[in-house]
This record gives sequence, C-alpha cells and structure tokens, in this order.
Amino acid sequence: MNNAENNILSDYIDGKLHEECGVFGAYSIENEDVTASIYYGLYALQHRGQESCGIAVSDTNGPKGRVNSCKGMGLVNDVFDENNLEKLGGNIGVGHVRYSTAGASCIENTQPLVINYVKGTLAVTHNGNLTNVAELRDELSRTGAIFQTTVDSEVIAYVIARERINTRNVEEAAKNAMMKLKGAYSIVMMSPKKLIGCRDPFGFRPLCIGKRENTYFFASETCALDSVDAEFIRDVIPGEIVTIDKNGICSDTSLCTEKAAKCIFEYIYFARPDSYVDGVSVYSSRIMAGRILAQQHPVEADVVIGVPDSGSAAAMGFALESGIQYGTGFIKNSYIGRTFIKPKQSVRESAVKIKLNVIKEVVKGKRVVMIDDSIVRGTTSERIVRMLKNAGATEVHVRISSPPFLHPCYFGTDVPSCDQLIAANNTIDEICQMLGADSLGYLDGERLSELVEGDCGYCEACFSGKYAVEPPKEN
Ligand code: SF4
Repeated sequence: MNNAENNILSDYIDGKLHEECGVFGAYSIENEDVTASIYYGLYALQHRGQESCGIAVSDTNGPKGRVNSCKGMGLVNDVFDENNLEKLGGNIGVGHVRYSTAGASCIENTQPLVINYVKGTLAVTHNGNLTNVAELRDELSRTGAIFQTTVDSEVIAYVIARERINTRNVEEAAKNAMMKLKGAYSIVMMSPKKLIGCRDPFGFRPLCIGKRENTYFFASETCALDSVDAEFIRDVIPGEIVTIDKNGICSDTSLCTEKAAKCIFEYIYFARPDSYVDGVSVYSSRIMAGRILAQQHPVEADVVIGVPDSGSAAAMGFALESGIQYGTGFIKNSYIGRTFIKPKQSVRESAVKIKLNVIKEVVKGKRVVMIDDSIVRGTTSERIVRMLKNAGATEVHVRISSPPFLHPCYFGTDVPSCDQLIAANNTIDEICQMLGADSLGYLDGERLSELVEGDCGYCEACFSGKYAVEPPKEN
C-alpha cells in the first residue's frame, strides 16, 4: 500500500489528522546501556507515528563511528523484539516513530538516518517539515550530494555534515545549519561523543529534556520521560541547541527570538493528555476547551460524550461547565495496525465500527452532545453521528474543540489542502446538515489562547491562515 492509500485508509477508519513523528534520545554518562530506555520511550510516543520506527545506538568509549541500528515498517511492537534489541547496546542513542506527511512510506525513509562522513558519524531523527526543503535539496544536488531517501531529515543531515567540515564542533555545525533551515524541526541527533537536541526558532514541534540519575533524555513529549522514570528538567526553548556530553548539559540560545509559533493543535489533539507541552498540561487544556464550548454553544441535552481519545477530556470540560451528565458513549479499538486489510466499499461502514463503536445504553432515547477535536473532511463525523442516531439517540449536537480548519499545515502534520477541508468550502449550517446533526458549534478562534494559559506564542495558521513562516512555493 503506498503513502496516499495509507492516508486514505486511516482517514476513513478514524478521519483524524496525523502528527509526523516522535523523537527520543538518551545518553548515559556512566556508560549504562540506553537501548531499553529508548525502546520504552518510543512506545510512549507511538501515537505520534505508526508507520515505521527505529533505534540507533553507539558507545562513546567504543570504536569511533560504530553505530548499531534497527529500523522497520510498523509499530514499535512489530519492529523490535528481544533478539534485535540485544544486538544494539551502547550508552548513547536516538529513536524515532514516523508517520509520513512528506516523503513516501517505505523502509528507505525510516529513521534514525545514519550517515558516515569525514568527521565520523551522525545519527539524525527529526519531527516537522522544512518549508525550503526543495531549494536546499536542489542546491545540495548541484554540488554533488546524492540522496537515498525523500525525507527532510536527509537534507538536514547533509547540511549539518557540510557545515561540520568548517566548524570546530558539531553543535557549531548545527547552529550554522539552523540558519539555513526554514520551517518546523525538532531534531535529536548523536555524534560519536555527543547527544544534541535542537528546536527551530519558532518551536513549532515540542521537545523536552529529562534526567534519571546520570542518564539524560530528549523526548517529543513528557509522557515518554515518565515511561523511563526520568525527571522532567525543562523544555528546549525555540531556537535553542542543547548539547549533552560527558560533562553534562550545555546550551546555545543565540538563535532564540521572542517570536515563537508553537503548534496549538498539540494541545487539542496530537499530544497525549498525560503530557505537559511547554509547561502546559494537555489534559487541562482540553478540559478548558470543553468549558469554553459549553459557554459559547450551550444546548439542552441529557448526556455529553466525547469521541475518543482527545474528545473525552473536552467532553468532561463541557459536562463540568454545563452541569449535563458525562457519559462514555464510545469504545475505541486501538489495536488496528498497518496490516489492517483495506475493506471493499460494501463493508466500509463496519470497518469504522471496528475502530469505534457506540455503547447503546448511554445514548438510547437521549439528547446527546458529542464532542470531537476537529472535522477535517467530514465523512467520518457524518458516520459517527449516524451511528449515534441508529443506536437510539433522539438528538445529536456536535461540538468541536477547535475552530474550523480553513488552511493547510506545512509544519509537520497532514492538515490537507483547502479543497479537501469541509469548513473551507461550506458554511457551518451546511456542514451541520451534511453531518445529519441537530446543531453544530466550533470553538471560537478568539479564545484559543485560553487553552495555553494566555500565552500568545502559538501557531494557529490552519485556522487563521496567518503563517509565521512563509509556506513553501511547491507543496
Ligand atoms: S498550522 Fe495548525 S497544525 Fe500546523 S503547526 Fe500551525 S497550529 Fe499546528
């Protein structure tokens, strides 16, 4: 199945957007093996990418440049087993889970990307999309670079490797490279002796630092630090380069600016509710979204239910604010992997039910408020409303814990082009009719900053069209 088919398949199963990737890195100053920690970290980040995953580890005291890696297509559980993990081993390493929004879904494009060059080796993992990747790839190709993949990470690795030739150390090379990269990138990479984490100056994608005894970690989300019993130290600041070596942590903030554009949709949908992203609890943020919805779009009803997983906390917030009883209206099957057989048209309805089913007792004979995080194309929302009505709901009032999607995302998610976004082409009344709902209300964009405790340094371009970085000339 190719990338486009995969996306269509997952779209009609869950109708959801996807984050591009999750990154994780570990360095034990006391030379303990970090392979198992990276494996557990990736498990906790699985929601950020389910197409492929990989781990690369090395020994800072071993032969320079020897990197052992294991990568494959599928979930962390599919790719790794005791045998292949045992063959890795080392006190420094990086790991990655991937969903492809740029570059095909194939083994060549899996990460970590390990390159050998004149200064040794680099193992690179990356979350986000560059907006100037076409220009950089073209420039590098004209000066002799031969690309083996179609992912941005290879371009990043090349730019850093070239800069390294004329710089004193790898962090200086990373800094020079960052001045050439545009768009979204949270990078975790290892050189023979250093683990480095960089976040683009706008901080589109998250990245945090943790520590357990003498082992340091980088992770896309704090839930991955929890999974390895690490203490959260802090987030990497947008524009910062953090280097970990045998002497501990050091930081370069010379590229940091005041102009952050952190992705607001991490709180609404992408991140796990047990994570804190840039100091804000994702769970609390979703509760707040539900409360705002109840204030802005009140309705008389008997029960509030959330479309799992991200709609559940927002439904709780709506129930708390409105006084309407909260119920568990859906059961989600989380075990559908990439081997799920693409059903024929005739059985597509039941395919959706394999992913999500209604608990009839909760909705039968009731006026239901159904909370979801977003509507992309609308097809899945329409099926879910129909499932509720077939289960006996007398009314279904849909409330969405984000503003309408009106613009595509170029920063590492798969918010699609305008022609595919239902809200870009229809009024709210028309969408309500298309869903077969009794009423429809979206979160007001004016109140988005309340989800992040009033901080204005957030990207909301897929709702407002105000891009912090100029979109690529070619999508
Ligand atoms: S455009 Fe939307 S999804 Fe993309 S980074 Fe900005 S807020 Fe996040």
